[in-house]
Amino acid sequence: MTDLNIKSKIDKLCQQIKDYDYHYYVLDEPLVPDAEYDRLFRELQKLETDYPDLITIDSPTQRVGVKPLTKFTEVQHKIPMLSLDNAFSDEEVLAFDKRAHERLGDILKENRISGLAQIDSSSLRFPQGGNESSLRSVLDIHDSSEKGSQHSGKPKCEEYNYQQNDITYVCEPKIDGLAVNLIYENGLLVKAATRGDGVVGEDITQNVRTIHGVPLHLRGENFPETIEIRGEIYMPIAGFLEYNRNATKTDEKTFVNPRNAAAGSLRQLDPKITATRPLNIFCYAVGEVNGWQLPKQHYELLQQFKDWGLRVNPEITIAQGINKCLEYYQEMGKKRAQLPYSIDGVVYKINQLNLQQKLGFVSRAPRFAIAHKFPAEEELTEVLAIEFQVGRTGAITPVARLKPVFVGGATVSNATLHNIDEILRKDVRIGDTVIIRRAGDVIPEIVSVIKDRRPQNAAIIHLPKHCPICGSEIVKTEGEIIARCSGGLYCSAQRKESIKHFASRGALDINGFGDKLVEQLVDAGLINNVADIYTLSLEQLSNLERMGEKSAHNILAALEKSKNTTLARFIYALGIREVGEVTAQDLANHFGDLDTLINADEAALQAISNVGPTVTKHIITFFRQKHNLELIERLRRSGIHWQKPVRAAKQPLAGQIFVLTGTMQNMTREEAKERLVALGAKTSESVSKNTSYLVVGSEAGSKLAKAEKLSVKILDEKMFLELISREVN
Ligand code: NAD
Repeated sequence: MTDLNIKSKIDKLCQQIKDYDYHYYVLDEPLVPDAEYDRLFRELQKLETDYPDLITIDSPTQRVGVKPLTKFTEVQHKIPMLSLDNAFSDEEVLAFDKRAHERLGDILKENRISGLAQIDSSSLRFPQGGNESSLRSVLDIHDSSEKGSQHSGKPKCEEYNYQQNDITYVCEPKIDGLAVNLIYENGLLVKAATRGDGVVGEDITQNVRTIHGVPLHLRGENFPETIEIRGEIYMPIAGFLEYNRNATKTDEKTFVNPRNAAAGSLRQLDPKITATRPLNIFCYAVGEVNGWQLPKQHYELLQQFKDWGLRVNPEITIAQGINKCLEYYQEMGKKRAQLPYSIDGVVYKINQLNLQQKLGFVSRAPRFAIAHKFPAEEELTEVLAIEFQVGRTGAITPVARLKPVFVGGATVSNATLHNIDEILRKDVRIGDTVIIRRAGDVIPEIVSVIKDRRPQNAAIIHLPKHCPICGSEIVKTEGEIIARCSGGLYCSAQRKESIKHFASRGALDINGFGDKLVEQLVDAGLINNVADIYTLSLEQLSNLERMGEKSAHNILAALEKSKNTTLARFIYALGIREVGEVTAQDLANHFGDLDTLINADEAALQAISNVGPTVTKHIITFFRQKHNLELIERLRRSGIHWQKPVRAAKQPLAGQIFVLTGTMQNMTREEAKERLVALGAKTSESVSKNTSYLVVGSEAGSKLAKAEKLSVKILDEKMFLELISREVN
């Protein structure tokens, strides 16, 4: 590339990034996912490192954020509020550590000799605030002599022998929120400002005063004359989801992620609006400090924050050497999905403040800290096709086939679009570039379409008139969201799905009778409905492709075993619309036997507290179909049986609602549910304020975070087993 070409490339990148910055920082409406932004930013950084002469002073790499709109009064920060350098791999973190060691060579050598290199965290209690007068904080050292990347600095001490353990770090979660500066004068909150462009922010004092987590007055005594406390205001995930749910109902603007929700809520002209939003804060640094002696270590400073009543993140820890930081990264990565707030990485900060001071800053970030980012949970990809799948009840679900993309730690190539209305609302077309999100164990979803990348021939999606599997008419009743294939059992997709459901874990739990086998058996014409599966012979099974005789024997044994079931499982297995496991259990408990249920009229069904008019309609319709009754008869004749449900003499857990999450060691979730129901408890799939207990196995997901937020009682497996055995005895 010629220099002219490079300049034009740099200009183009600068312009594009500035545009993205404006939408992100000013409008709180990002145009692209962070991963895409970070890629462009790094591309620009790389070009600027290679061609330092082409760096302009207004390049996004030389600045923090953007200057805000003049909606609010401007606040000039006494000490700039900077960003952080990012590392996306362990190697980048190690390189950061190495650079720091090299720059700090002299001091580290001295520390080593005097035994200061290793710091015992147990000794980290902050001594009560001193009285020394006006002291500028360590963050007041701004080395602007160095332009561009921090990689360009020369080691100060060439002969220093790098040993990874010489630096103590403080490891902190990187909260995905909005940086704020809180100014306290003699303990009283007098001003709060956003970061803005790092030099000038917005005065949001009245808004911040509405956040309960921000103390209006610090606790204790011996406060600095003035102190700038830096922290991150964030919206907890549960609050964010609830906000968006309500906003959708009232047609208000929704936010794309908790960070934007926090920023949008905080930058409101009317503090009464901010007051209604669930915001909170974690404090992590100081700016200018007057009339107070700073401690020697960052960790001590955080302890002091706590004593003053400022919220400090409980996950913060101290680490001796960079390898311990990398371990912390792994741990937090695992914990990420369970935290009640969103984090996009972790931050490592050198603990000793004199070392921080020595390292100083480059243009937009300190040299003593680095953000180690997690793999992105949002990415860009392309919609290759949209296919319509047919479910057990004929529901037609559009599924987007995507150009495979690595997001949220896995490669994603499909995303459900739920229903045709969702496609229209999001205006997804074939050929579109879309933002895809995969967070924790949540199913990947298309967040939005990048409209300005839409190719001219992007095809609009219409609901097909006929079922893609059986050709029957697709019906969408007025007012209903779901379109359905009208083929019923004529439709092989519906047949397959109903058999898969029958054999599934919560139903007859037929080991080895998985989706692939069902597809094979239906396609080969060996089974057409659930009753047919009990007619399968050893010969038929072992003749199937990829099936040995041993596996065939195992399947027959599993089929035999499944015949001994419970009434609730059998009712659930029938696949009546809207009869889930809980309703099936309610029906079994209430009617006690199948024939009474089959003959129950509307009034009898509605006498059950959780059975409403729609479920009643589906149950009655199901048992009115002659072919369903014939199937049930065939199943009974093949030997399926159950014990008459005995209502426990006492129902000690009656009225209690349990939610189960994660994997248990001693029983399956299904077994746990059955035990609970036998004791009179109800189980539910989602945590709400009505939940009595959340039972947590290993690798619990977002339910734990929600339960913590709602102060729901949490039981681990041991406590749960104790509880049920206590109640049984
Ligand atoms: P950043 O988010 O990468 O990191 C710096 C910020 O982290 C600090 O300013 C502070 O607010 C925050 N932070 C959270 N926890 C912290 C802790 N424990 N200690 C210290 N700081 C902590 O930097 P940035 O300058 O705020 O934003 C740049 C990033 O924002 C980009 O990397 C990109 O991911 C995103 N962005 C996205 C778009 C977009 O269009 N999608 C546009 C602009 C920026």
